[in-house]
Amino acid sequence: MATVDLTSAITEQLPFSNEPFVDFSLSENKRAMEQALAEVKTQLGREYDLVLGGRRLKTEGKIVSINPARPSEVVGIHQRAEADLAEEAMQAALDAFPAWSRTPVAERASLLFRAAGLIRERKFEFCAWLVYEVGKNWGEADADVGETIDFLEFYGREALRLDCAATPIQYPGELNRLRYIPLGVGAVIPPWNFPFAIMAGMTAASIVCGNTVILKPSVDAPTIAAHFMSLLEEAGLPDGVVNLCPGEGPGFGSAIVAHPKTRFVAFTGSKAVGLEIHESAAHTQPGQIFIKRTILEMGGKDAIIVDGDANLEAALDGVVASTFGFNGQKCSACSRVIVDASIYDVFCDRLQERVSKLVPGDPVANTYTGPVISEKSLKKVLGYIEIGKTEGRLLNGGKAIETPEGGYYIAPTVFADVSPTARIAQEEIFGPVLAVIKSQSFDEALAIANNTEYGLTGSVYSNTREVLDRAAVEFHVGNLYFNRKSTGAMVGAHPFGGFNMSGTDSKAGGPDYLLLFTQAKSIGEKLS
Ligand code: NAD
Repeated sequence: MATVDLTSAITEQLPFSNEPFVDFSLSENKRAMEQALAEVKTQLGREYDLVLGGRRLKTEGKIVSINPARPSEVVGIHQRAEADLAEEAMQAALDAFPAWSRTPVAERASLLFRAAGLIRERKFEFCAWLVYEVGKNWGEADADVGETIDFLEFYGREALRLDCAATPIQYPGELNRLRYIPLGVGAVIPPWNFPFAIMAGMTAASIVCGNTVILKPSVDAPTIAAHFMSLLEEAGLPDGVVNLCPGEGPGFGSAIVAHPKTRFVAFTGSKAVGLEIHESAAHTQPGQIFIKRTILEMGGKDAIIVDGDANLEAALDGVVASTFGFNGQKCSACSRVIVDASIYDVFCDRLQERVSKLVPGDPVANTYTGPVISEKSLKKVLGYIEIGKTEGRLLNGGKAIETPEGGYYIAPTVFADVSPTARIAQEEIFGPVLAVIKSQSFDEALAIANNTEYGLTGSVYSNTREVLDRAAVEFHVGNLYFNRKSTGAMVGAHPFGGFNMSGTDSKAGGPDYLLLFTQAKSIGEKLS
């Protein structure tokens, strides 16, 4: 009964709403961000521990996280969990499971609400860490922090809602109940590009449902995860509920996926790794007594269709923001724009003009486009740019930009006249590269848009109702937008997840997400 009272107290008094964005044009916010950047700069280069069952450990090997805008600047030094640590990590999570799985849902949800409150208080500080560790500009960093708060607030409320579940009917003569109970120990494996929101979101969804987890952050962004871990502890996280193990994907990551006691894997990352996890998890290990569940959110090759009657300015705004916001390093980033032949030439001219004004620079100074995440990524994207030079007409960019600090900068790049089947129109590049494709009709535009193995996000710019109605049915993506950009999904409003090789369509931030982290138990009792 106490749970139900608290539930209504929380949900009725405080309905969910998205965290507002920080307006950095206000001098007090600009000043607060500059102060946070200065303060966090003094903390760069610190060493962080691995956390197992509340114990802080050091390993022989280290992961060194660097600032992609200034690779000689060390952001954090982290322990490197190797595959042989998987057993100890699993034991810590298993030990914590009995007590945590029986902790009242309201208490588990309260932990998330407290954590959200603490992040809100330290918003600028977290933004600053994101600027240094992954090269986000201030607005992108704020969006990541805001989404983190949203996930915590939303999943806390969703867990309370799920706790009140009832069977659709009461069978005559019986008391029928439906309980959503936790699964067990999960492996949480996030990507580096939303290193706060996705890392914290998958962790929060897992634990609020009563699971315990082994959290393996990306080697490119372990510092944000270490700060989140400390914050959860400050909010009252019991030992062993989250076990923080930075490590390489192919070593520690694959060992934890393969462990016979890993009940579920919550992964967000590339198609190749997602498929590898899918295969490994499907292979039953000796001693395994359940079918592992995998929640796999993967890559995209997202398209924006610009119809002949579209508002050109709005379409250009949307295409530029979707393609070059955070340098195209979003799963939802536009990497193909499919433009109606009737406006193709003018669109290309205007696009070229706009993109030529984007000059990459250090995100500390809040430059719109910063560096790509790593040297590996720089080489991969430049490789695709060379391919693009044989597949299209270069309108902008097409090269790396050298800086005295050796940052991983690439000039925003646009290729026009690209064939729908070209490699740069089919493969995920994950960088600031756009392919412009001409279509002769909306039929053809839809066929081009649907003709990749992915199906994550897409947008249509059109002023014709019938065109939008057709796209609603025929544009096969998990997140479809009309007359707005393809990035910037909001928790609650745009439940997020893709079709086809973009993943298992888990719809993070939506009403069905927590079901993936639970199993339903039906209890029928004969009334005497
Ligand atoms: P990635 O696949 O290289 O790595 C993701 C995570 O998997 C990392 O923590 C990594 O260490 C781990 N990993 C790597 N190999 C592993 C293995 N064999 N076993 C277990 N874990 C392993 O992806 P990334 O470069 O970090 O992120 C970019 C990718 O993520 C892009 O493809 C992007 O589209 C995708 N992404 C998808 C979404 C979505 O919601 N669909 C959101 C963000 C990013």
